[in-house]
Amino acid sequence: MRTVIIGGGFAGISAKCKYPDSILIDKNEYFLMTPKLVDTIANGESSLFYRKPDVNAEVLNINFQEKKIITNKGNISYDKLIIALGYSQDLSKIKGAKDHVMKLETFEDAMKIRNEIEKANTLIVIGGGDLGVEVIGSTVELLSKIKRKGKERVVLINRGPRILPHMPEKISLEAERILTELGVELILNVSVEEIRGKTVITNKGDFSGDHIFYAGGIKGPDFLSKLKISLKNEKIEVNEDLSSVDYKDVYGAGACASIFYPSTAEVSMQSGVHAITNAVEGRDDKFEPKPLADVVDIDNNFMGVFMGFPIIGSYAKILKSLALINVYYKINKVNSFSNKFNIL
Ligand SMILES: Cc1cc2nc3c(=O)[nH]c(=O)nc-3n(C[C@H](O)[C@H](O)[C@H](O)COP(=O)(O)OP(=O)(O)OC[C@H]3O[C@@H](n4cnc5c(N)ncnc54)[C@H](O)[C@@H]3O)c2cc1C
Repeated sequence: MRTVIIGGGFAGISAKCKYPDSILIDKNEYFLMTPKLVDTIANGESSLFYRKPDVNAEVLNINFQEKKIITNKGNISYDKLIIALGYSQDLSKIKGAKDHVMKLETFEDAMKIRNEIEKANTLIVIGGGDLGVEVIGSTVELLSKIKRKGKERVVLINRGPRILPHMPEKISLEAERILTELGVELILNVSVEEIRGKTVITNKGDFSGDHIFYAGGIKGPDFLSKLKISLKNEKIEVNEDLSSVDYKDVYGAGACASIFYPSTAEVSMQSGVHAITNAVEGRDDKFEPKPLADVVDIDNNFMGVFMGFPIIGSYAKILKSLALINVYYKINKVNSFSNKFNIL
């Protein structure tokens, strides 16, 4: 039986490590360590890590009837298929965002944002979730490194009354304290209605900025709309066991699957293991995500939540490092399996 995983990100490498005889396809030979993209913005550090897929090819389409994956290098058949193609940033919730805001999906995007920040005078981040808070943290970190901090206006606009609303209130207050200390203007309880050119239009007035970043959440990659498969909220619609609602031998894992869970790397990894276990062992176990930790880094101040409890400082930093070490370990493991298949 041939099990194929398409997408070698967090979900895909976890699935591959669980069943090394599966075939991993990815269009890139590197792994994008998204939690490090903010370090790319702040320091220009690389967030790319060498990770060799079994097949380095771009998936162009899937023929589900014939169980065939169409790639730019040829076709590959499968018996069981795990789709783990990741996410794209959702800019659809605010009118004008698609036209006027830069995305942060790749290493190149992070470098472009870094260049923009270096030149900008008024910087606005919309959204006080994990991503918005980390991006504003890396913005002030970069500005202080290039010794321009103090000359700019850095603004965080958040719709709700507190940032990091999914974390304990203690963490929101700590994050707000640190950002204020770093000179960030916090604009809370304000809804952005539209972005027009360099102007952010809100229900409480307009803000002008020469660099605007919108952290509006993530959705499935645009590529999914090409496939003959049901989508829900622009993600592959899956049953509770992560199988597709349309094809019993096809599974969705990670950020591109419709099961509602926090779209974190940790839960994506769990879903990759779960999907491939059900696929290979012919099980239909329900996926129950077990999020352990969520840590944000604001200009080297670490804070977050661990098993429901707030954590601040070195414990939070250690947890974040351990999570990254776990991913590096899996990447190395995948590299040690590679070159076994010659199927194209
Ligand atoms: C800026 C940023 C920071 C983040 N920080 C954190 C954080 O600190 N902690 C955290 O838990 N989560 C974080 N996340 C969320 C985390 O990145 C996602 O939850 C995670 O990437 C989802 O994993 P995945 O395996 O579904 O997708 P991905 O990791 O995106 O993997 C998808 C893979 O599919 C491949 N692929 C895509 N299209 C094709 C194709 N057509 N053909 C072949 N291959 C293809 C890609 O090359 C990629 O390797 C962050 C996200 C962003 C955008």
